[in-house]
Amino acid sequence: MSGWGMDQRSANQQNIQFNHLSQKDLPTFLQALGIGFSKNTVTEDYQLTREKLGTGINGSVVKVIHRQTGAEGALKIIIKESRNSELEVKLHAYASQCENVVRILDVYENIYRQRPCYLLIMECMPGGELFDRIQNTTQTKITERDAADIMRQIGNAVMFLHRRNIAHRDLKPENLLYSERNFQSLLKLTDFGFAKEVTQKGLETPCFTPYYAAPEVLNEKQRYDMSCDVWSMGVIMYVLLCGYPPFYSDHGFSISPGMKKRIRQGEYTFPDKEWKNISLTAKDLIKRMLTVDVNKRIDIYEFMNSPWVANVREVPSTPLFTSANMMEDPDCYRETQREMESALQTMRVDNKVKIRDVKHSKNRLIERRKQKKMEAGAAPQQK
Ligand code: ADP
Repeated sequence: MSGWGMDQRSANQQNIQFNHLSQKDLPTFLQALGIGFSKNTVTEDYQLTREKLGTGINGSVVKVIHRQTGAEGALKIIIKESRNSELEVKLHAYASQCENVVRILDVYENIYRQRPCYLLIMECMPGGELFDRIQNTTQTKITERDAADIMRQIGNAVMFLHRRNIAHRDLKPENLLYSERNFQSLLKLTDFGFAKEVTQKGLETPCFTPYYAAPEVLNEKQRYDMSCDVWSMGVIMYVLLCGYPPFYSDHGFSISPGMKKRIRQGEYTFPDKEWKNISLTAKDLIKRMLTVDVNKRIDIYEFMNSPWVANVREVPSTPLFTSANMMEDPDCYRETQREMESALQTMRVDNKVKIRDVKHSKNRLIERRKQKKMEAGAAPQQK
């Protein structure tokens, strides 16, 4: 059976619990979700093209064509020894039920360059990565309302996962892809290589349904994993609204208690040029997502219920500086990516988020921004 012919989001499948299903072997698991599984060579069913859609840990993600239907797909190879490959396939396949997650259509278990691997056939996302799209938007400036709609879609995917006690733990712009080449198309989350289920030991019996587990049953470490997703969303939202990140990882150096205190008090800036016309509601929401204290940070449900997200149509359509800033300094985006990657790595390793506020950063990008401001005769501003 293949995922092409099935609507994976039928009502009864929405109710299949990951915890219950994950006990099953992979073929049974995938079958229950309407996803094809085969040990044959992938080329029997798909024609591989030379079109590279992106680069992953195990090489390129390439476009493929389904021989029977002519439909396009994207092939990703997951080497079995890398990460927890079966769990990655299961979590991604399970999350495919959400409309804001890239769908898996077929899975092949096979050998690639003498190494056992899984080959994932996903729906093809020709719209590409979120920030590439924003960077390349030349004709129209994205507006605050566009940003709210983008964040609502990301939130929808994250809420689907958190409701089922799954943390993604790798929320970054490269893992957010557009289904088509226009802004109206759906934005979807992908790459479940770091995702994990955060149910408590003892509750992981097949009859326990984690969907209904209240957040209080999760211990601090478990809540931390989900809360990190909200933190990452806060960083993405900040970058979406201005084109540069709020603060920078400290490349592994520990930070002084005084610095930690400042960060806890939310000492990062909303520089006037980009932020003065942005609504207070948006800035307030960012502050609540970028609260360093996990216990005070909002959760995904509060995010989704906040007026900025719940009433997207009422968000002002103020044009943003995002595309201009990203285009003006081509290194800026790459640097933002590197900084997010290092912050995510730090968050996954331990509970201490090592971050610096803009004022104290020695980061090249920030130095350049400060320099530019000095040249323009304006002192860096704090809010
Ligand atoms: P890895 O887990 O190895 O990092 P990803 O799943 O993140 O691999 O994919 C790497 C890149 O390939 C993505 O950032 C994206 O640019 C591209 N890509 C992944 N999946 C698709 C898809 N379904 N359609 C189009 N491009 C994709």
